Amino acid sequence: MDSNCRTCMFSKIEKEQLQKNIEEYIDCLSPEERTGERLYKERLELCLECSNFFNGLCRICGCFVSARAAKIRSYCPGIPKRW
Ligand code: SF4
Repeated sequence: MDSNCRTCMFSKIEKEQLQKNIEEYIDCLSPEERTGERLYKERLELCLECSNFFNGLCRICGCFVSARAAKIRSYCPGIPKRW
């Protein structure tokens, strides 16, 4: 990959901005809304092993799994549910 390619650089910047936006979204959750760190990691590990996981997204609901897993009341939309 050419590191000077504008398209590649733009794509990288977009991805970084997107990741930042997700992190900001999670940071804005109140302690009551937010999943505890241990459970959050467990959820993400299950997503990483799931055939419906693609590029940070859940193919079933279209959510960014890192954002979905961060909310304590969220659940996996898969059948059967993985978390
Ligand atoms: S189906 Fe469930 S486990 Fe699989 S990616 Fe979606 S939220 Fe994660």
